[in-house]
Amino acid sequence: MGKNKGSRIIITLECECKNSKDIKRTNGIGRYTSSKNKRNTPSRLEIKKFCKYCNQHVTFKEIK
Ligand SMILES: [Zn+2]
Repeated sequence: MGKNKGSRIIITLECECKNSKDIKRTNGIGRYTSSKNKRNTPSRLEIKKFCKYCNQHVTFKEIK
């Protein structure tokens, strides 16, 4: 016991490309893989990053 100190988990951050129906870019969704400490960040993570599909900085949100 006590070995599982840092409960870091791998998460996927996804752009909202998929929600923009105006843009015909079905070939991809901006995604990043990251990790977080479940204990420190129990809520969903949101990071501003550059999305090559949106061609701009957008908020990437953690998905399940
Ligand atoms: Zn995007």
